[in-house]
Amino acid sequence: MAELKKGVDPNFKYDVAAQPGGEQIKVCYSCGTCTAACPVTDVDPRYSPRKIIRQVLLGLREEVLSSELLWYCETCYTCSAYCPQNVKFGDVMRALREMAVAEGYFKPEFLERMRKVDHLAHAVRLDLVRAALEAKDQPEVSLEAALPEITKKLKETTV
Ligand code: SF4
Ligand code: SF4
Repeated sequence: MAELKKGVDPNFKYDVAAQPGGEQIKVCYSCGTCTAACPVTDVDPRYSPRKIIRQVLLGLREEVLSSELLWYCETCYTCSAYCPQNVKFGDVMRALREMAVAEGYFKPEFLERMRKVDHLAHAVRLDLVRAALEAKDQPEVSLEAALPEITKKLKETTV
């Protein structure tokens, strides 16, 4: 019998597929449409939904579950909107995060900091959406008008 490469866990894909949402990795055929559509990949090309699914299928358990990239997904589901196989990668990511926490790759202190990051990010996004909506009806109002409030929030927040 061929020896398994060190760090490869052939059961990883089955464990992921057994999680709610994780079962969808089975129908992915690696076309890469998700990665092309992902707004996070746009700003950090190291992040690739297609690659993460491939790593799961290859059994790279520790590499996937300990990766900081696991926490980059914004669960916007843009990838799902374009996926020809209707894979909801945001749900796959949720399953992977739950496994990472359950298997001790991320500590409660880290998760508390992530909660603060998420809260701040949502508050900033809300300010920008409000500014965009106001700018739509009033050309004199611009997105830049929201910047002072956003800068104040950032200064007040220590993650
Ligand atoms: S778009 Fe869907 S099928 Fe294509 S790589 Fe992404 S998850 Fe897989
Ligand atoms: S749900 Fe995550 S992986 Fe999918 S497009 Fe949004 S940020 Fe990218």
